[in-house]
Amino acid sequence: MIKRKKLHLMLSAPLVLLLALPAHAALRVFACEPEWGSLAQELGGKLVEVSVATSAMQDPHQIQAKPSLIARARNADLVVCTGAELEIGWLPVLLQQSGNAKVQPGQPGNFAAADVVRKLDVPTQLDRSQGDVHAAGNPHIQTDPRAIAQVALALGARLQQVDPTHTSEYAKAQADFTQRWQQAINRWTTQAAPLRGVPVVSQHKAFVYLYDWLGLKEVAVLEPKPGVEPSASHLQAVLSTLKATPARMVLYAAYQDSRPSDWLSKNAGIAAVKLPSTVGGTDGAKDLFGLFDDTVSRLLAAGVKP
Ligand SMILES: [Zn+2]
Repeated sequence: MIKRKKLHLMLSAPLVLLLALPAHAALRVFACEPEWGSLAQELGGKLVEVSVATSAMQDPHQIQAKPSLIARARNADLVVCTGAELEIGWLPVLLQQSGNAKVQPGQPGNFAAADVVRKLDVPTQLDRSQGDVHAAGNPHIQTDPRAIAQVALALGARLQQVDPTHTSEYAKAQADFTQRWQQAINRWTTQAAPLRGVPVVSQHKAFVYLYDWLGLKEVAVLEPKPGVEPSASHLQAVLSTLKATPARMVLYAAYQDSRPSDWLSKNAGIAAVKLPSTVGGTDGAKDLFGLFDDTVSRLLAAGVKP
């Protein structure tokens, strides 16, 4: 017994010393969606400990502010989310209940990616009455790698701001990421050139930034309004539209029920294509680079006639 006690004392002394040194503590990042978790990991490396609130199989519009998520937000040093009201149904409650003052909106510990990107589909007049979940403009910015590049610049600066003792490490990681990312964008843009002008249908208005980047043409949307389930009559209307304005494929996000897209695929004789939409959405989308490798390859496979 005495021996064991001695051993315990010997081990615990250096442990206490280690715990007392704040320089060893990683910056705790709470990311709302997988793409921002991956980006924070790219830019923070070993300096950050990333916790991602949702998976690629969940609709980011529709998340529950569960106690387990509130607990994670309570311990966060930096919250990284999309913003543009994507998380309006759950994040405000979550942050409020967390009681964590440093991650509240307006604080340096609260980062909204959409704030640094030019938003598309911004409504000229605000109208949530018919269930439109994109009332603050389209929030699905992560489908354009150029938007991710902009977010990376701002997020890198924010990491330096909230963790100033590691400024040079963050700056180095950011320069490294930006270079690799720009090379990848050039590669994807070249590969995807044959997709320019290809007409497509979307199940949800989830890909406007992707289309803006690659020049795909959205001729119809299966949801009558963003977030409103496609009705049988609306699907018929889309089918008629396609008789006059044919499309090459219908696209849906990995987290969505594919039935409306499958219906259109069968009835219009076009391909239904699942896109990962974020990291983890498909086997190929293992990280941010894989997300676009896989997106471009899926689009090319279905959208370009050999
Ligand atoms: Zn949406």
